[in-house]
Amino acid sequence: MRLMLCLGAVIACLTRLCLAGESTALGANAPTHVTVVRARALIDGTSSQPRSNPEIVIRGNRIVDVYAVGTHAPPRGAEVIDLGGATILPGLIDCHTHIFLQGEVPAAGGYDEQLLKFPASYRVARAIVAARRALEQGFTTIRDVETEGAGYGDIGIKQAIDEGVIPGPRLFASTRAISTTGGYNLEGYAPEIQVPKGAQLIDGPVEARKAAREQLDHGADWIKVYMTHRSWVDEQGALVSQPTLTVEELKAIVDEAHGWRKKVACHAYNGIGLQRALDGGCDSIEHGLELSDAQIAQMIRQGTWLVPTLAVYYYDPDPPDTPTGKRDRKRVAVHGPSFQKALRAGVRIAFGTDVGGFPWTEPIAQEFAREVEFGMTPMQAIQSATARGAELLGRSGELGIVAPGAYADVIAVAGDPLVDINELKSVGFVMKDGVVFKSTLKSASQ
Ligand SMILES: [Zn+2]
Repeated sequence: MRLMLCLGAVIACLTRLCLAGESTALGANAPTHVTVVRARALIDGTSSQPRSNPEIVIRGNRIVDVYAVGTHAPPRGAEVIDLGGATILPGLIDCHTHIFLQGEVPAAGGYDEQLLKFPASYRVARAIVAARRALEQGFTTIRDVETEGAGYGDIGIKQAIDEGVIPGPRLFASTRAISTTGGYNLEGYAPEIQVPKGAQLIDGPVEARKAAREQLDHGADWIKVYMTHRSWVDEQGALVSQPTLTVEELKAIVDEAHGWRKKVACHAYNGIGLQRALDGGCDSIEHGLELSDAQIAQMIRQGTWLVPTLAVYYYDPDPPDTPTGKRDRKRVAVHGPSFQKALRAGVRIAFGTDVGGFPWTEPIAQEFAREVEFGMTPMQAIQSATARGAELLGRSGELGIVAPGAYADVIAVAGDPLVDINELKSVGFVMKDGVVFKSTLKSASQ
């Protein structure tokens, strides 16, 4: 509780500092302001083929028309932004981020350091930078799946973004996350010492439901649950993951969240915990490193989403001859083939990266290349981060698409991401809510 109050005070304080400085760039467009954006090509988020020479008409913060140059006259008096040979896409959606994590290096104290030693204000300051980093890279929407011991800090950041106080993506917040006793860090301290935990720990369906109610009451858009925790490689060389919540505990959370018309994201690697996640009715499986054929069939039957986060597991493996080093390599070895099976079977897949699990200075879009490496076409990979992401978030037609009625969240890259998916690492134009946040592409008139 004290942490929450602190974070609130810090955000209010930073808010005032920002207001004292430049704030005009973040102001929303007047509802009558009309902008026309044109370029060489448009990947609209749902169509299987790009469209040539698009002209996109934006009124206020919404897209009102999309057509090929020359078929309509642009509205009289409109501000025209000509992006020349660029490719326009919908603002990207990362369905698995942690703005309160910074890819902490073990040598510098790792995860524990930030919960034990960092002032709340420092963590908030870095979360503000992380939110800005997401937007700069073209991610105009993120589902941030828990604050790692920073309480309800994401709710304040979201408010500051929505009010135009700080730049950042549309944020779907999950607040504290839920696991069980023995099911989350910090760990390994003397039993006599009380240490903070990176998630809200519950035991039993009553506590589980209460935690969900508390988090929903404080503004959670999603509930995040950890269904597996520790993992290791056993004598047979198989990946084993410790399960956390029981099916009954998870069902209490899912029932409560669904009653509020909210959804539940479940961290689950494999095995018993993953099975419980499916049996308990999770809406999205996070990571899903090793899905059995039966589990894939169950996901299809239940309409469960997979948010695979492929790239993060390639970061900083421990030395190969250590137990954790073996685990790190095994995670990578099983993940790709499992993703391929799920993709071929038709599991609904949304783009997620776990950024924060790796530093925010790294390109978020590196995930696209892994999706393509394991079988997605570049168009499928783009759609996983646009229309599919919006579908997961229950915002189809408004987010992840360039079409009339959608929010004017529009980005552009200089080249063709269907030829080289890594073009998405260099987003040169970002408009969110009808307001240009970044524009470094050479325009046609220059
Ligand atoms: Zn995560």
